[in-house]
Amino acid sequence: MAVDYATLKKGGFMRQKQKNNFSLRIRVVGGTLTAKQLAVVSEVAETYGKGYVHLTSRQGVEIPFIKLEQIDEVKDALAKGGVVPGVCGPRVRTVTACQGAAVCPSGCIDTYALAQELDARYFGHDLPHKFKFGVTGCQNNCLKAEENDVGIKGAIRVNWIPDACIQCGVCVKACRTEAITLEDGKITVDESKCNYCGRCTKSCPTSAYEETHGYIVSFGGTFGNHVHKGNVIIPFIEDHDKLMKVCDAAIDFFADHANAGERFKFTIDRVGADKFEQAIREAYENE
Ligand code: SF4
Ligand code: SF4
Ligand code: SF4
Repeated sequence: MAVDYATLKKGGFMRQKQKNNFSLRIRVVGGTLTAKQLAVVSEVAETYGKGYVHLTSRQGVEIPFIKLEQIDEVKDALAKGGVVPGVCGPRVRTVTACQGAAVCPSGCIDTYALAQELDARYFGHDLPHKFKFGVTGCQNNCLKAEENDVGIKGAIRVNWIPDACIQCGVCVKACRTEAITLEDGKITVDESKCNYCGRCTKSCPTSAYEETHGYIVSFGGTFGNHVHKGNVIIPFIEDHDKLMKVCDAAIDFFADHANAGERFKFTIDRVGADKFEQAIREAYENE
């Protein structure tokens, strides 16, 4: 019987160079697996693979050397431990994320919650080519947001509260973009220099900044055969619903305009950056 490699690939089983062997991609959202899931993955790798896993560059876990005739057994074994195969091919891939504000002191947003939300909304949707989301918690950019088709970076917009300030100058030193000046007891934040990193408010001993948490979204990043840093269209998106509308618009634009096998950046280039920007701005401004 002919083997349906495309369906197997869609279900996370990728053909190896060794005949009838598959490297199984596990679905890992936001780089997080529970200890119990890890134990199941370990067991499957021991029983059905060669006793090891490969950690991919996009936080994936792959179990190599799964035999063709044991694929169903492997799926059952994984399912019993709450582990689901991932996807490959032309569709929305695993959403990656750093640890974000739930764990990391620098984090401006809850990256894992957002990764889960994006995963629930888009994971596995068929598209003309692969499509990657990455979520990073702050300007330190550990997750390298701009190398994704849609990269989301946590951000904080600050507003100085004069009455709470003791003029210590800590925030001025903490700011890496020289956006803050302290003169005559007054703090001024130059928004044209601010990158929304949140270091000033996180370092302030008296909580003298009001914080608005938000997102910086980049589009069209790619880091394979072609290397391109995704472009930001709207400097700061503070509204969660608007973030989702903008993500929907990006996916819709890709689905509507891309040729088969064309990465998002090249669709934007071919169809026109102006047209894409207009679609994103309309989604952002549309109530
Ligand atoms: S990007 Fe920021 S929030 Fe995420 S792990 Fe790095 S420092 Fe922490
Ligand atoms: S958010 Fe960052 S860049 Fe902006 S003023 Fe504060 S420390 Fe400077
Ligand atoms: S760190 Fe806080 S208290 Fe100190 S100067 Fe800045 S705003 Fe004022």
